Amino acid sequence: MLKNDQLDAWDRAYFLHPSTHLAQHARGESPNRIVAGGSGVFIEDRDGNRLLDAFAGLYCVNVGYGRTEIAEAIAAQARELAYYHAYVGHGTEASITLAKMVLERAPKTMSKVYFGLGGSDANETNIKLVWYYNNILGRPRKKKIISRWRGYHGSGLMTGSLTGLELFHRKFDLPFDTVLHTLAPDYFRRADLALSEAEFVALCAAELEALIEREGADTVAAFIGEPVLGTGGIVPPPAGYWAAIQPILKKHDILFIADEVVTGFGRLGSMFGSAHYDLEPDFITIAKGLTSAYAPLSGSIVSERVWKVLERGTDETGPIGHGWTYSAHPIGAAAGVANLELIDRLGLVRNAAETGAYLRKAVVEALGRHPNVGDIRGEGMLCAVEFVETRDGRRFFDPARKIGPQVAAALLRRGVIGRAMPQGDILGFAPPLCLSRAEAERIAEATADAVAEVLGNG
Ligand code: PMP
Repeated sequence: MLKNDQLDAWDRAYFLHPSTHLAQHARGESPNRIVAGGSGVFIEDRDGNRLLDAFAGLYCVNVGYGRTEIAEAIAAQARELAYYHAYVGHGTEASITLAKMVLERAPKTMSKVYFGLGGSDANETNIKLVWYYNNILGRPRKKKIISRWRGYHGSGLMTGSLTGLELFHRKFDLPFDTVLHTLAPDYFRRADLALSEAEFVALCAAELEALIEREGADTVAAFIGEPVLGTGGIVPPPAGYWAAIQPILKKHDILFIADEVVTGFGRLGSMFGSAHYDLEPDFITIAKGLTSAYAPLSGSIVSERVWKVLERGTDETGPIGHGWTYSAHPIGAAAGVANLELIDRLGLVRNAAETGAYLRKAVVEALGRHPNVGDIRGEGMLCAVEFVETRDGRRFFDPARKIGPQVAAALLRRGVIGRAMPQGDILGFAPPLCLSRAEAERIAEATADAVAEVLGNG
């Protein structure tokens, strides 16, 4: 086995990491961690640390680490047939079975699933299909896509444009001008507006409609949104938000893409966020929880209404000019089948609802009275703690003080991984859906300790 020092040197010399301060990393100024194993909600690194991963990797290891059922399904598929493509009607038992399993779990209005590799490429597929749809319907001008500030939809060219976080645009010449951003439904952050929750929802709806009317509904093709804002800060929608947004989309004949990369397959305590919030999407983006990240796989689920137009399109113009070499990769599909079976067998959707609520309650009990804790929120197995300088008037800390990252670092020293979310001083939790109550208590206690270290006891 290679020595840690050797790996560290190679890492700094050769590895261009995603979402990393490249210069600091290359200079050896930022830590690296060589992750070597995992079991349940814990990971182990090469320095002998055992850490409670309260973010499930990147909220993706939904069934937890070390599931031999999935490992065996992957190995069996690799032995039998590691790869064949899915072009021109080819399939494998795994990919065909998984398509059926996905549709059985999706809202009834959905019709077919296209498989990709990750969330970014699945959203790329969605946008291409939206454009194709409008071209087939003879509406070539109807192409703009509306996304929301603080939304996260990937980091490709189009999907990085959809993402409403400045970090993903800066110096990349993004966003593309076919992408428009509207108000984020982050009521807590908008104390400056001095509105009731209902008034704020009405404002979000009015801003969306004004944007559509300004641009011209005949130029706006689709709206994309996560049922619960994820990377933008783990923000469940204010009450009535989706009920206010959806009729506007319908009225202007704008397709709705529900990006369920995080929320799909149980994260909210429902199989899909669309069911959880009564959404009627035309597309649903899935990834992460589809395989619990045991192998890369994503999907674009399309509604019957969209499917009918796609069918018509190929009758008119020939086979659809879209596909990746690795679409519906058999190893990913085998992982997906075993993963969805495991989610059912272990009752993980229900556990996400119950233990997720227990986790939030434990965090509220441990921290709810701390004067620098402004908000504790979440849904299902998602929880966020947002820090404020003062609760009165909801004054936020100067971002330069990096309170969120400091708390996350203090938490890590206590053996628990939380995530400092990029949009404010927000500590996020999205543990594997198999979290136990005892593990939830440990997260809450360690967080209270970490907050006391950084901010005192108040
Ligand atoms: N959509 C959402 C809602 C996501 O959270 C993510 C990833 N965090 C993506 C899309 C992009 O997925 P990927 O990183 O697999 O490309």
